[in-house]
Amino acid sequence: MNQSSGEIVDEILSVACLVGASDIHFNPVSDEFSVLFRLHGRLLQASEAEPSLPQTVSKAAVQRLKVLAKLNLGEQRKPQDGQLVMKLADGTCDLRINVMPTVQGERLAARITSRHALSDSIASLGMTEQQQEQVQTVLHEQSGLIVVAGKIGSGKSTTMHAMLRQKSKEGASVLSIEDPVERYEDSFAQIQVDERQGFTFSACLRSALRQDPDVLMVGEIRDEITAAIAVRAGMIGHLIMTSLHADHPALVISRLLDFGIRPHFIETALRLIIWQRLRPIYCESCGGKGCSKCHQLGVLGRQAEFQVMTKQALQTLFFGMQMHAESVPTGGRDEGFGPIYGEAETTRYGVFSERFERPFTSRN
Ligand SMILES: [Zn+2]
Repeated sequence: MNQSSGEIVDEILSVACLVGASDIHFNPVSDEFSVLFRLHGRLLQASEAEPSLPQTVSKAAVQRLKVLAKLNLGEQRKPQDGQLVMKLADGTCDLRINVMPTVQGERLAARITSRHALSDSIASLGMTEQQQEQVQTVLHEQSGLIVVAGKIGSGKSTTMHAMLRQKSKEGASVLSIEDPVERYEDSFAQIQVDERQGFTFSACLRSALRQDPDVLMVGEIRDEITAAIAVRAGMIGHLIMTSLHADHPALVISRLLDFGIRPHFIETALRLIIWQRLRPIYCESCGGKGCSKCHQLGVLGRQAEFQVMTKQALQTLFFGMQMHAESVPTGGRDEGFGPIYGEAETTRYGVFSERFERPFTSRN
């Protein structure tokens, strides 16, 4: 068991990617580091996920990570950020590294931002065939606004990147504005927002439009100006893609209204809402109780599932919102909105128990 620090790091990263951890923490404990994985939202010792992994690693292992992420080894007093790509047996995974000085020593957190395996095309995201057809139809239009919505960490970027890659392969001029750029792409240009330099989302968006893109992704709408430019661009010959944090598809419309966009403009520009969430894949061997196959977690990973709303469903949504203008959902209220989504294609909602899904299940 005399592994080099390099071998230990490689193994920790490989195991983390294989078991589906979202983050790896290297916490300084006296002269060593305890290794923790965040797996399906829970933080646990790496050695719990995989008993052969050491409970602690040496400083040399953390130094190796800093080297791989091209960080300044000599700098130990300031936080540093970096990225690295890890090669695995069945693909690669991208990691974002942050090193933070603490009084106990440098603490290193690695976020696994994406894994490149099969899930690189729209077909492999987990949509039904009908949903894929709906998305493809809108993707082949010349203009319009596509909003991918969901909670933080629900895989919105993965969905948007899959659409952008496809458009790029089809010969479209594609640009994306992101903050941060988490996954580097070969097939289209990515612009990193830099607020401190005044290169805000809205400034990037204005410039990017002068680059004559067919498809432009605005990673996220955070302010009124960006929202206004994006919606307008979607009305005049660009396909604009963006994401919004929304617990529910109807909240997409209210977010856009909150940004001061006039309902008529939203109605004209908005072509597609893709709302998604991640659902746990329960271990079949133990039925979710926990066994050696699932590292005692009861789950093997997570899978995205989607609700896709195109023209007709959106019109119904608008109509419903006008009818219920008094109760436009804000802050997570959904009273009076249930039946509206009957028009939308939904998938496998029966497994959900959260309050927002109830209107769907009651209709199925
Ligand atoms: Zn199991």
